[in-house]
Amino acid sequence: MKWKIRKCPTCGRYTLKVKCPQCGSDTVVAHPHRFSPEDKYVKYRVMIKYPHIVMKLESQSGYTAEGQ
Ligand SMILES: [Zn+2]
Repeated sequence: MKWKIRKCPTCGRYTLKVKCPQCGSDTVVAHPHRFSPEDKYVKYRVMIKYPHIVMKLESQSGYTAEGQ
């Protein structure tokens, strides 16, 4: 079977869905061996447009300040 892995250009999440389950953006088909050189700038663009999403992602990935 062929999975069409898709990627959210907004938050970078991989999904099989047309809409990102995380931020609701339209996803694009990901090309595993042809990452766009733009990819590394996505985070910065996202930060400008959706700072709350980036903050949420960072908190989810265990990026925490000392203590709680
Ligand atoms: Zn997303």
